[in-house]
Amino acid sequence: MTLIAHGITGAFIATKITNPLLSFPIIIASHYFEDWIPHFDFGTGLSNGSKTKKDAFIGGLVDFAAMCLALLWFWQLANPQIAWLAYYGAFVAILPDFLHAPEVFLGFQPFFSKPFDQLHKLIHTSTNNKVIGIGTQVAVILAIYLLR
Ligand SMILES: [Zn+2]
Repeated sequence: MTLIAHGITGAFIATKITNPLLSFPIIIASHYFEDWIPHFDFGTGLSNGSKTKKDAFIGGLVDFAAMCLALLWFWQLANPQIAWLAYYGAFVAILPDFLHAPEVFLGFQPFFSKPFDQLHKLIHTSTNNKVIGIGTQVAVILAIYLLR
């Protein structure tokens, strides 16, 4: 899924399960679960050549900025304290995609990311159907906005 969907899911989990050691594996599992659901993301189209690495990179930066804005809106604006748990959760939630980024953009796979990348490729389900691919993520974002 997009970074915004992953990031706010992680923030939601981390703010509900406030022990970071307990929330960490659940947040990581949420990333792979969400990537298993057919979705569109900014890497969709890279493998079949319908999108360039530059387009995917720029899309990823926009997605990251949107995630940061959503974190501020959902957890920070009405909170006088720094929402550390929300930021922690978002960081953990997008970690699998960061580990995958060197292989996608640089053609280099660090040894420590190999098992995570293999799991990612096994589970990841992209769709070019924009209604399903974006609709599922809008549903996730709306649900978290209402439940947070
Ligand atoms: Zn992913």
